[in-house]
Amino acid sequence: MAKSKMIYFFGDGKAEGNAKMKELLGGKGANLAEMTSIGVPVPPGFTISTEVCHAFYENNREYPEGYEQELKKHLTALEKLMGKKLGDSKDPLLVSVRSGAAASMPGMMDTILNLGLNDQAVVGLAEKTGNSRFAWDAYRRFIQMFSNVAMGMKGGVFETILEKAKDRKGIELDTDLDSNDLQKIVEEYKKAYKAHMKSDFPQDPLDQLQKSIDAVFGSWMNDRAIHYRRLNNITGLLGTAVNVQSMVFGNFGDDSGTGVCFSRDPSTGKKIFYGEYLMNAQGEDVVAGIRTPETLSSLKKKHSRIYKELEDLKDKLEAHYRDMQDIEFTIEKHKLYMLQTRNGKRTAKAAVKIAVDMVTEGLISEKEAVLRVEPDQLDQLLHPSLDPSAPKNVVAKGLPASPGAAGGEVVFSADEAEEAARIGLKVILVRVETSPEDIHGMHAAQGILTARGGMTSHAAVVARGMGKCCVAGCGDIKVDYKAQQFTARNGVVVKKGDVITLDGSTGEVMLGSVPTVQPEMTGDFGRLMEWVDKFRRLKVRTNADTPQDSAVARQFGAEGIGLCRTEHMFFEAERIMAVREMILAEDLEGRKRALSKILPMQKGDFLGLFREMKGLPVTIRLLDPPLHEFLPHTDKEIEDLARVMNVQAATLKNKVEFLHEFNPMLGHRGCRLGITFPEIYDMQVHAIMEAACQLIKEEGYEIVPEIMIPLVGEVKELAILRSNAIRVADEVISRYRVDVQYLIGTMIELPRAALTADEIAREAEFFSFGTNDLTQTTYGLSRDDAGKFLPYYVEREIYPNDPFVALDQGGVGQLVKMGCEKGRQTRPEIKLGICGEHGGEPSSVIFCHQAGLDYVSCSPYRVPIARLAAAHAALLEEQGR
Ligand code: ADP
Ligand code: MG
Ligand code: MG
Repeated sequence: MAKSKMIYFFGDGKAEGNAKMKELLGGKGANLAEMTSIGVPVPPGFTISTEVCHAFYENNREYPEGYEQELKKHLTALEKLMGKKLGDSKDPLLVSVRSGAAASMPGMMDTILNLGLNDQAVVGLAEKTGNSRFAWDAYRRFIQMFSNVAMGMKGGVFETILEKAKDRKGIELDTDLDSNDLQKIVEEYKKAYKAHMKSDFPQDPLDQLQKSIDAVFGSWMNDRAIHYRRLNNITGLLGTAVNVQSMVFGNFGDDSGTGVCFSRDPSTGKKIFYGEYLMNAQGEDVVAGIRTPETLSSLKKKHSRIYKELEDLKDKLEAHYRDMQDIEFTIEKHKLYMLQTRNGKRTAKAAVKIAVDMVTEGLISEKEAVLRVEPDQLDQLLHPSLDPSAPKNVVAKGLPASPGAAGGEVVFSADEAEEAARIGLKVILVRVETSPEDIHGMHAAQGILTARGGMTSHAAVVARGMGKCCVAGCGDIKVDYKAQQFTARNGVVVKKGDVITLDGSTGEVMLGSVPTVQPEMTGDFGRLMEWVDKFRRLKVRTNADTPQDSAVARQFGAEGIGLCRTEHMFFEAERIMAVREMILAEDLEGRKRALSKILPMQKGDFLGLFREMKGLPVTIRLLDPPLHEFLPHTDKEIEDLARVMNVQAATLKNKVEFLHEFNPMLGHRGCRLGITFPEIYDMQVHAIMEAACQLIKEEGYEIVPEIMIPLVGEVKELAILRSNAIRVADEVISRYRVDVQYLIGTMIELPRAALTADEIAREAEFFSFGTNDLTQTTYGLSRDDAGKFLPYYVEREIYPNDPFVALDQGGVGQLVKMGCEKGRQTRPEIKLGICGEHGGEPSSVIFCHQAGLDYVSCSPYRVPIARLAAAHAALLEEQGR
């Protein structure tokens, strides 16, 4: 470490780094270097690499050998280039200290501006610039940021001083404070610093600089940063880099300003130049919601030359990076500087539109476009939006900051949102504005409403990243935290617990809950999905038990049903009685009698499914859950059933108790039911085959039913059940006199099934990996009881993920691979699929592709996500990644 380079310079058209060096220089540093070399105006500076951060933590928070010399060397080089010295009493160099890791973490680590000012330098700066208001404003900002960010003092102390000064003068805006006022404020700030820190405000710029660098590295491990990384699955980073950069001043006066812009609209994806700025402002003034920013169209009107320059630079950056850019800029005395560029975060809608448009514009290829959209992100597009024909009682309107629609009970704090979500309530988080402390509450809420801040405010940016609906900057509402209520238009008062609905696409806030409609699957989305289907190899089926679910899934592009759970059909009100009768019957005759009542209903179910799927493959799983799940438990229910069955309630109660199991998930279920009560499976096979035969014969369908037997752990189980099924099926077929193909296969959901898959494949024409049960049985982890400790395991990173959400590739995945290999050894043409919830989770889908499965099957709403993930898997493989 000591010998390798630690700091990288950028300035004057040359840079030691470039955009590819994100791991080492962080995203911000790498792009500052890149912009410098392609001739974009960037204030010079240098980047301390993430390796130094890593070494700092490895070394018990000590800097590596040689670091100090290297820092001094780069500082001297910067001073030379700028022709100014840090802390100089005549013409001081001022710098910013900015953090930046390889992955962007908005608002996680704070920036310090105007570093290098002290009691002498401020006077020099005032004289040199001839603008003493500016100099004192810069100093007071520096004291505030340094104390807050580097020394951990609460920002409130300084805000109170500032507010009081404004009150005394009877003004509202910071910009109305003059040089004298600011000078007094600086005195008070320094006093406050001394009172809290028990030492004077540091006057030595090198000391200021090192303390700030310490703070940036320190912030890498603060709770907020750790929480954000965990939430966003950011792992494997070395640390953060630190950028030390010469200052340019947007707060110089009315010919200066600062802003943020996007090369395309991050909310809709439309190709319009979109941004906000404030004149006479510095740094985060725009996002902090201190004054309400102006849009770029007013920049165009008021400062057309600057606007043109900004527009040209935006075009240059977008063409260079070949992606939508999120840009931070500052204007100093009519001169434009770029302070940051990165690929902009965007809503799913925007991601799809931008990817498709860029293909049309010839900027990227279809394959790149497919890789530009994150599978998980699609979720946002697949959910309902407000029903346009539903009546709406709009009581306020704000900015459409993040699309989608959501309703819920109003809460006013992040903690309340989190508590409410824990007990299953849907809530809308209402805040004056949000800050990084609110992230957990934003996550828990269905939607977010803020009274202040623009389209680039914290609330807007974070909500878009989360795919949550957000209405920001809603000036129509007045939030009263104390009274736990807000007032909307016409004095309407909304209290904590009242239900409201947000439309993040229009910015409307409505009283009560407004019904929603399904999303559109056409247009840009449709085009992208055509490419997706062209590039993927893995097929995508759905888990569906009803014609309605199947219809939704088909719309989403499902290519068949991978799992139809027949037990769900048994729960319907009219049937459950017959099912209970069957279970509780004393003998075979009694069971058969009850089953004969169920048969026509089951047949009807399959007719509906087959018709809806129009010849696409349908896998039907025979009865799986433990029987007691169907039984009545209350005395009242038992009495009702006894009457229907014409038996004593007490007898029935005994029987119910007898069927109770200690470990039902490992008990009398799955194929074990089929072995002990063959008539149940016989009835089901009968119903499946009658439905198929009838449709083939009378309605001309082509159907190849796939009959699936659950929970097999020993090949003999399957051998017995298969021969039973063949007997029943062939009986039906010969009765209908039609030629019908059918397949019989099994779930692989017990470790023993995977381990003996070569034997099982002798009896199975297909395998479907039931990764929910396989995860339970491999880990010895009950899904229903894991809630008590699993979150803790994930939080402590004992498990990298919840294994019920993302397939455990190292363990469960190995059994899947083994099952595939052994199955194919015995039967090369065997069909392989997966039907656990994992079938719709992108990392698991990619794994399934790599393991060589034929298809994944997932819930209807996740079908497009699985299709996209499958295309990603194929394209990543093609690129050798
Ligand atoms: P974040 O990661 O939160 O975006 P930045 O490091 O980008 O933090 O800093 C926030 C803002 O501070 C920038 O957008 C810019 O307006 C301002 N800023 C940072 N460095 C400088 C500088 N050298 N000169 C002028 N303004 C700066
Ligand atoms: Mg910030
Ligand atoms: Mg920034």
